Amino acid sequence: MAKEKEEKEIKCSFCGRSKQGTDVLIAGITGHICNHCVTQAQTIVRDEVSQRTNASMFSALHLLKPHDIKKHLDEYVIGQDEAKKVLSVAVYNHYKRLIQTQSKTTHKDDIEIEKSNVIMVGETGTGKTLLARTIAKVLNVPFCIADATVLTEAGYVGEDVESILSRLLQAADFDVAAAERGIVFIDELDKIARKSDNPSITRDVSGEGVQQGLLKLLEGSTVGVPPQGGRKHPEQKMVQVNTKNILFICGGAFDGITRHIGNRLNTQAIGYSIDNDVESIDKENLLQYVSPQDIKRFGLIPELIGRLPVLTYLNPLDADTLLRILTEPKNALIKQYTHLFEMDGVKIKFEKGVLDYIVEKAMEFKLGARGLRSICEAIMMDMMYNTPSDASVKEISVSLRYAKEKLKKSMLNKLKVA
Ligand code: ADP
Repeated sequence: MAKEKEEKEIKCSFCGRSKQGTDVLIAGITGHICNHCVTQAQTIVRDEVSQRTNASMFSALHLLKPHDIKKHLDEYVIGQDEAKKVLSVAVYNHYKRLIQTQSKTTHKDDIEIEKSNVIMVGETGTGKTLLARTIAKVLNVPFCIADATVLTEAGYVGEDVESILSRLLQAADFDVAAAERGIVFIDELDKIARKSDNPSITRDVSGEGVQQGLLKLLEGSTVGVPPQGGRKHPEQKMVQVNTKNILFICGGAFDGITRHIGNRLNTQAIGYSIDNDVESIDKENLLQYVSPQDIKRFGLIPELIGRLPVLTYLNPLDADTLLRILTEPKNALIKQYTHLFEMDGVKIKFEKGVLDYIVEKAMEFKLGARGLRSICEAIMMDMMYNTPSDASVKEISVSLRYAKEKLKKSMLNKLKVA
């Protein structure tokens, strides 16, 4: 009886609700808190944190103008100046828009800044993912990479488009507010293209279905996201994520799109535009003239193209650029190997011609910048295996002969593209 009376008297120290009036009453050292107050407190904390994040983002934007964003990108990505410029502006405007929508009080006018989702067209291994990843690093926002090829329409085997957001949530440590300001890189967007520009003659609707699915993510809507992703846990509770302020950056090689670009430029030059000087067209790199029209011809639906208003391209990597990639970026491969050996107290030197040889092989294997790593690994493997166990070695030198010999023996040589 006395115990019952005592229980009745326990109250929430914040709202005064009695134990009976609550579902859960948590005891602290000197008081109690009920589930209602916990929920309310959670909202207050979230809003407060979100406001502070906005404030810091606002000051970050004051600090980081498009020029500054590009300067950061320059530290990690070699060349691709046009893509860097376009991305820097898109990101700058995107976060301005975000600040505007979240601090409505400072903007009484009704000018709504549209989302600046980006599409990057460029051969594989030219730095699309690296650019998107570096942008996210500069802005310190959650980032994830999704592969469009694994996406299927709801109900089919594969991943639903919502699974993209599961990854972003995971990258944000399940902080929904942070995820809602993040960046998603959708790779291989070209792989979900319709096989023909003309919807009426094609039976290939699978790609189009996925494109339709992506629309709602790109334009901004609240989506139920399975936090663990996939369909393997049907019992999991969905988390509601609003995609309005998520920046989507899409990339794809769009193999064969230069044909559409070439055709368009030719017709324009011959048929309509007299001032369009065909001679001045750089036929070696038609990608630089890519337009939404070409993307549509390639098989992306107009609605999707409309939601990716910023279009840019990446240049193919030539030998000079590959050589710079080896040595110049902040975390260039050669710098990484030097550091790895330094940690064992060993100084490493690459003799003349070795780096040119690595580049030459990367070009020959048609592996792009991605190939540089595999080639370096093949050359360096034995040294990395043996040196740490030999305390007498303080300095090593990689000669051209050694590099050639190691690469010849490696499995990589079998990858050679005919
Ligand atoms: P993509 O997404 O275009 O297929 P990635 O961005 O994944 O290519 O590039 C693969 C790797 O090649 C990167 O991790 C990076 O090390 C290197 N790389 C590619 N392009 C560049 C570049 N322009 N500058 C520096 N490194 C690059």
